[in-house]
Amino acid sequence: MAGDPIGPDGHLPVATKRETWRAGLSLIRTARRTFALMVLLNVLATVAALGGPWLFGKIVDAVASGRGGEQIDRLALLIVACALLQLVLTRWARNVGARFGERTSAQVRDQFLGRVLRLPAAVAERVPTGDITSRAATDVNSVAYTLRDAVPDALIAVLQTLFIFVAVFAVDPLMGACAVVGLSGIWFAGRWYLARARTAYLEAGAAASTLTEVLTATVSGGRTVEAFGLQERRLRASVEAIEHSRDTRLRTLALRTVLFPVVDVSYVLPLVGVLLVGGALYGNGQLTLGAIIAAVFYLRQLAGPLEVLELLIDQIQSSSASFARLEGIETMARPARTTSAEPVGDRIEVSGVSFAYPGGPDVLTDVSLAIQPGEHLAIVGVSGAGKSTLGRLLTGIEHPRTGSVTVGGVSVAELPPERLREQIVLVTQDHHVFADTVRDNLLIARSTATDEELRAALAAVGASWIDDLPDGLDTVLGNGGLALETSHAQQIALARVVLADPHTVVLDEATSMLDPTTARSVERALAVILDGRTVLAIAHRMHTSHDADRVAVMEAGRIIELGSHQELLERDGAYAALWRSWHGDSAD
Ligand code: ADP
Repeated sequence: MAGDPIGPDGHLPVATKRETWRAGLSLIRTARRTFALMVLLNVLATVAALGGPWLFGKIVDAVASGRGGEQIDRLALLIVACALLQLVLTRWARNVGARFGERTSAQVRDQFLGRVLRLPAAVAERVPTGDITSRAATDVNSVAYTLRDAVPDALIAVLQTLFIFVAVFAVDPLMGACAVVGLSGIWFAGRWYLARARTAYLEAGAAASTLTEVLTATVSGGRTVEAFGLQERRLRASVEAIEHSRDTRLRTLALRTVLFPVVDVSYVLPLVGVLLVGGALYGNGQLTLGAIIAAVFYLRQLAGPLEVLELLIDQIQSSSASFARLEGIETMARPARTTSAEPVGDRIEVSGVSFAYPGGPDVLTDVSLAIQPGEHLAIVGVSGAGKSTLGRLLTGIEHPRTGSVTVGGVSVAELPPERLREQIVLVTQDHHVFADTVRDNLLIARSTATDEELRAALAAVGASWIDDLPDGLDTVLGNGGLALETSHAQQIALARVVLADPHTVVLDEATSMLDPTTARSVERALAVILDGRTVLAIAHRMHTSHDADRVAVMEAGRIIELGSHQELLERDGAYAALWRSWHGDSAD
């Protein structure tokens, strides 16, 4: 089995820097035309914006050389034209930018949801809810906001900054050099900031997850907290989580308090340099006044984009950490190795299987068992012996650490879910009825089933109540719809088994927790669906074991006895002892 995807700190994984970059680029690739158009329009808008100062410089030179008003009027008109062009192009660019942002952020949401739904069952059961909730809400929103607003704005700002430098160099290379030297502080401060920001923001994200986890656990366990007087303890845990979250946020704030002042000062320095050097050159007659004014105007224009970048760098860093957290789910959701091999026959074979839950000791040790097609096998043993775990391995939910579980010669762990459920289905009490119509609740077992087949499956499990519903198969169940009784919900679960039509059913506690009347009706339904199938019944209570063809007795993760009820009683070993103790305790 691969390493546990959920880290020792109880958090879900986070994508590496390289994986995050790759994911970001592939996101851009999916909207590459819109992205290319956005870049092009922004380049054109920036070029139009640069026309103004250059033309203004020309006006100054024209006035200085005493040239006619007609030329000045023409230049002034051109300035207005440039401003209008910039306005139109910027508006258009923003429109395209918004489209890019909406499309990519919708994709981020879709991807995240898809990944969570694709999590392997064994992982999904253990996923920390606070972490997943925090990623689904805070991180998805942060990335969506950044893609919609921050990315287009930052792109414009970067382009503007670059073009302004090109323009200053074009006016005079020496003044360009002054501007670059003046701004070099930003480069160093930026590098310093970026080297630390990712870790700091990831820590802040993890702390936010922990906080959500602690708060939701306190709320959902409210009654237990009350019953055991745990208020003080939960309060302390919450305060600790809040303080840790605040500390991580203060750390990101500390980074900003270095970067921001450097950026603020840096944008004035090139201006000072250009004025000093330009003044000297003008004094020597090497530069016109117009050229200096154009350069000064350009550098004044730097204030806008630098301010935008200053504000956005923080947002972008924090959402790239969020993006890494969202992408981290992908490393867990990657489908396990699947095979296209077709099982030959229905024989199930467990050979030399050992298994441990992540971070724990082996709970199954060297278990081997061959199950004949059509056989009814009961698995018995005291609580904690490993019966349910064996059931989970037989149905592909968990994968063996060593050894193999095969059906028709193919590893159960490698069968894709839709093919596995044609072979083996696990029936427990832990079934779920989705807030959806009866029809859709059943179609998850076989998407191609007709309404007739659905009705037949319901009839087979004795769910005649469905005929009394005014909307029939269209009745919406669950949240906001029809609330089902336990036995009816169990019938829906069993009807799914009829539809999936597997040759083998693993029953785990299917009826043991139900009240006697409900249990009897469910057992009747079960008897129908088990007929003609291979059955592995995990018998937490013994009353089903004497009907089975064979009984496997488990103890501390091993099968210690295997044989028919009668044989095992005659052997007078562990099974006989269990049977006697159950019979002694039972009322009949
Ligand atoms: P049984 O079904 O016979 O009562 P289980 O298969 O449920 O036994 O449990 C076998 C062992 O595995 C027990 O020691 C139990 O504590 C442990 N165990 C069961 N489920 C988990 C889990 N999800 N994570 C860690 N340990 C588990």
